[in-house]
Amino acid sequence: MKVLITGITGFAGSHLAEYILREQPGVEVFGACRWRSRMEHLRELGQQGKINNLVEESADTPEALAPLLRPGTVTLLHCDLTDAVSARRLIEVVRPDRIFHLAAQSFVPGSWNAPAMTMDVNVIGQINLFEAIRQAGIDPLVHIAGSSEEYGLVFPNEVPMKESNPLRPLSTYAVSKVAQELLGWQYFRSYGLKAIVTRGFNHTGPRRGEIFVTSSFAKQIAEIEKGIRPPVVMVGDLESKRDWTDVRDTVRGYWLALEKGEPGEVYNVGSGTTRRVGDMLNLLLSLSSAKIEVRQDPARLRPSDVKILWSDSSKFRARTGWAPRIPFEQTLRDLLDYWRARV
Ligand code: NDP
Repeated sequence: MKVLITGITGFAGSHLAEYILREQPGVEVFGACRWRSRMEHLRELGQQGKINNLVEESADTPEALAPLLRPGTVTLLHCDLTDAVSARRLIEVVRPDRIFHLAAQSFVPGSWNAPAMTMDVNVIGQINLFEAIRQAGIDPLVHIAGSSEEYGLVFPNEVPMKESNPLRPLSTYAVSKVAQELLGWQYFRSYGLKAIVTRGFNHTGPRRGEIFVTSSFAKQIAEIEKGIRPPVVMVGDLESKRDWTDVRDTVRGYWLALEKGEPGEVYNVGSGTTRRVGDMLNLLLSLSSAKIEVRQDPARLRPSDVKILWSDSSKFRARTGWAPRIPFEQTLRDLLDYWRARV
């Protein structure tokens, strides 16, 4: 079986590649990256000799690619999804049986600064991918990484959030994710494209970008421990509530979504527990012996923040048997250790 991961150089994509190589022997893994992609998330796989770096190769047919493949490795190919030609070439060369479509402009505040780019990458990029699949005449299962941000404005009587909740997106990022999801449904109905959508709630763990709140706090604590930052953690809104899952549990869920999910359907993937950002910070602080002050920085407050995310993932659990395995404290410990090793 050939599996293609778009966004393999990203946070979730790198963990998904590791999961498949470790847990799904015999699967051929392909990853799409851009020529200037940061490769640091794939460094460990590279050190283990598990990256088959063909990005500069001229293999432009499956036949030309076949002799270059190495079992047990990820084969990387160039693709910028905003370019239809690039998407078509990728799909023609790989002809995957399954696609995990994770590539995105994934940062919510980034979408306020660059709304058009966010729509271009997330929406047009996915259309290019879908059209490439149709033109290649293949029939893969396609996972679409939707987001809990799609729910946006949620009233107190609407939690935990079910798939049937209204979608009231509060950022261009969230609108782009709604569009991705609806395109998945439309291509399924119109062309039989086997799209399965997950609405992933926040996930975190090692490699989480420092612009995201769990990593922002963990990195600051690691810097304070090292004595390269005054003993003050700068924070934004601590009252919002989030439903965090360990990224390693989330990507296992993505795999199960294509194993057992139903094309045309949408599934929440989240832990089912909601926590104040402030409580998450307290848990992180309890993992450090440093004496640390917490100070609010108005620049870190978002213009229209989502106040609460809390998943009801019973539909996904019933269909796939998925449940998170890694306790949240372990996730935060691993994240803190990740930053301790880097600062
Ligand atoms: P990252 O930002 O870490 O990774 C995004 C990936 O998309 C990178 O590999 C990036 O490549 C790639 N990419 C961006 N633009 C393009 C493009 N034009 N063409 C090809 N590839 C591109 O995101 P995450 O791993 O955190 O998220 C993965 C998916 O899951 C995203 O769709 C995100 O919206 C969704 N999601 C994430 C959640 C989370 O909590 N992390 C929650 C819910 C959904 P490059 O290295 O070149 O920049």
